[in-house]
Amino acid sequence: MSIHSSAAIILRHLDYGEADRIVTFLTAGHGVMKGFARGARKSRRRFGPALESFASVRLHWSASRGGDMVSLREAEILDLRTSLRGDLTALALAAYGCEVLEALLGEGHGHGEPFVLLGAFLDHLAAGGAGADARLLFELRLLSLAGYIPHLLHCSECGMLSQEEAVGFDPARGGALCSDCAGEGALRIERLTLGTLARSLRTPLDLFEGFRFGPRTRQQGGELLGRALRLHLHRPLRSVSFLDDVLGQALPLAR
Ligand SMILES: [Zn+2]
Repeated sequence: MSIHSSAAIILRHLDYGEADRIVTFLTAGHGVMKGFARGARKSRRRFGPALESFASVRLHWSASRGGDMVSLREAEILDLRTSLRGDLTALALAAYGCEVLEALLGEGHGHGEPFVLLGAFLDHLAAGGAGADARLLFELRLLSLAGYIPHLLHCSECGMLSQEEAVGFDPARGGALCSDCAGEGALRIERLTLGTLARSLRTPLDLFEGFRFGPRTRQQGGELLGRALRLHLHRPLRSVSFLDDVLGQALPLAR
């Protein structure tokens, strides 16, 4: 039986039966996967506290016969990110980040960028960087990695580079829309906001430190990204209303 091994981030887990645990995790090479950890809640030797959400670990697994769930053999802790649990905003953002990534990418999707993005996001939250700016950057980059942020600076339909102060935006029609193309139902977004988002997308995927968006970018950017996410997610997220409550109390300017 061949054993596979990879660095992974635990997205969530579900206790099963008396002692077992089903774990959803993200790896760089295989994307989102599910594993069955037999005896995880009893065997401290094989798994210890490693199978907790938001932890970075090294997992060892073998393919299970039939079914798409692998059989987890062992886990080594790389970073539990325990400081996340002492801050409600950080905890809410971490839970949201893991859920939205899984919902948007689905299982599989094996390439390294989402792994780098989520790891950097969780590190930033664990280091005390939780807030609306981190959420905006994470959503923007995740949508871009999933291929859902096509046009910010040109009209999606006629390709014209806009000179207007505010343009339309409709994720269902591909992004920004000039006033001739926009029609009804499109959001109105200031061009400066779209410029800020476009510039943010050119920064390194793992850089969260040092961003401070203005109230306009937070509000309009948040609305734009929220609309794009709702279009592409196949189900409502459990973590989002909790996050909105927590951010709403902590940061009056956040959406
Ligand atoms: Zn147009």
